[in-house]
Amino acid sequence: MRVLVKGAGVAGLAVARELVARGADITVAEPEPGFAAAASWYAGGMLAPWCERESTDETVLTRGRGAADWWDRALPGEVRRNGTLVVALPRDAGELKRFASRTSGYQWLDADGIGALEPALAGRFRQALFFPGEAHLDPRRALSLLSEKLAARGVAFVRDEDEGRFDLVVDCTGASKIGSLEGLRGVRGEMLYLETDELELSRPVRLLHPRIPLYIVPRGDGLFMCGATMIERDDAGPITARSLMEFLNAAYALHPGFGEARLIETGTGVRPAFPDNLPRVLRAGKTIIVNGLYRHGFLLSPALASEAAGLVLGEQDRREIF
Ligand SMILES: Cc1cc2nc3c(=O)[nH]c(=O)nc-3n(C[C@H](O)[C@H](O)[C@H](O)COP(=O)(O)OP(=O)(O)OC[C@H]3O[C@@H](n4cnc5c(N)ncnc54)[C@H](O)[C@@H]3O)c2cc1C
Repeated sequence: MRVLVKGAGVAGLAVARELVARGADITVAEPEPGFAAAASWYAGGMLAPWCERESTDETVLTRGRGAADWWDRALPGEVRRNGTLVVALPRDAGELKRFASRTSGYQWLDADGIGALEPALAGRFRQALFFPGEAHLDPRRALSLLSEKLAARGVAFVRDEDEGRFDLVVDCTGASKIGSLEGLRGVRGEMLYLETDELELSRPVRLLHPRIPLYIVPRGDGLFMCGATMIERDDAGPITARSLMEFLNAAYALHPGFGEARLIETGTGVRPAFPDNLPRVLRAGKTIIVNGLYRHGFLLSPALASEAAGLVLGEQDRREIF
């Protein structure tokens, strides 16, 4: 079966992998090569279904807990499975308790436990939650490597294609469907990259705060991704001064070593979201739509891609392709 996958963000690439694994002939159409137009390019790459349960539905946990295995099979060596650390300043201790009351799969750590896990944070926080089952990856490496592997398996990457030449189309065009897909809206997410050799972290650290929660994901070699705002607007324009100030203040509160960091990049992605913030696989004639991944593109694309591939190809056998 000849299938056109529209969009080479994380959803499109995950769908392409699942379809190739079931023997389909795949073309991926992406008008903006290089990923910079994809929300996926700005993601933290956290595979954090237990933490995300704090603000979302149980299905995100049940559908997301297999994501790290899927990414590990697709891109061996790219997934870091060393958990998530959640901290709060002493004055925000209530935030930590509230977070714990809405989640599961964590251990309470005291100051010694925090220092043992992340020496750079020793003595800075009295209490933390540690989610040992969580993982993360570098989304930019993941997108590039997955595209390369798909191309090596015969997937054609083009800028545009005539849909009429295909048996089916899978539309994974994310926020570009706002206005044409009922209920879809954009949630603006700003982020930045800091570089410093003043400190090392080995896992994502979330700093809870009543107004300005921050997470920092280490990318190695002194590079740290800091994110992310959640603003109800489908505006991908540059980061605002307020968001930048708040991020930098929060990063400095997490560790003063960030005060000397170089600001390498700022960026904005628009997360596509339905009213319940849960993703959908929809069918309209010969088009399957995979959208609404909200803040869970890397976490939920594996499950959604498998669902979409099942809709396209029924019970077709699945072989591991890479
Ligand atoms: C700051 C930030 C941090 C995040 N952190 C995380 C995280 O830690 N973990 C996580 O799981 N998720 C995270 N997310 C969410 C995740 O990035 C999104 O859910 C995900 O990127 C959505 O993927 P997508 O493929 O649906 O859309 P996109 O990545 O936006 O891809 C859509 C693609 O479709 C293309 N396109 C548009 N129109 C057409 C057309 N007509 N034909 C063909 N192609 C077209 C676009 O150019 C684009 O490349 C984060 C998001 C942001 C913004």
